[in-house]
Amino acid sequence: MRVVRGREGANPSQRPSKTFSGEVRADSVLGREDGAMVLTVVFSPGARTHWHSHERGQVLFITHGRGLVCTRDGDRRWVTGGDVVHFPPGEEHWHGAGPDTFMVHTAVSMGATDWLTEVTNAEYVESHA
Ligand code: MN
Repeated sequence: MRVVRGREGANPSQRPSKTFSGEVRADSVLGREDGAMVLTVVFSPGARTHWHSHERGQVLFITHGRGLVCTRDGDRRWVTGGDVVHFPPGEEHWHGAGPDTFMVHTAVSMGATDWLTEVTNAEYVESHA
């Protein structure tokens, strides 16, 4: 057993930009453990991930705010604090904040992440039209 108090280590919150659009902060809660990675991510309004998929799937625990989750086949949903989202292995998707609200989630990502293209402004607007 291993207990992590809030977040792992003394590393500063990351500011990833290559695989996200907009202002995002990511905090490592639990590093790779048996191929699973746990990150808490704060998305500013309009910020989102690029399109991507997870080798063995992903679970998102939406903890605060209001945001969007979208899959390549056109499933588009609003999510809010308390919602839990599962993406099966290989499903192409993105997640992010609403246009005028922040969104915070804790993500449990299993296996490698395959990063794809950015979510264009047109795709983003369409997601909540
Ligand atoms: Mn994901």
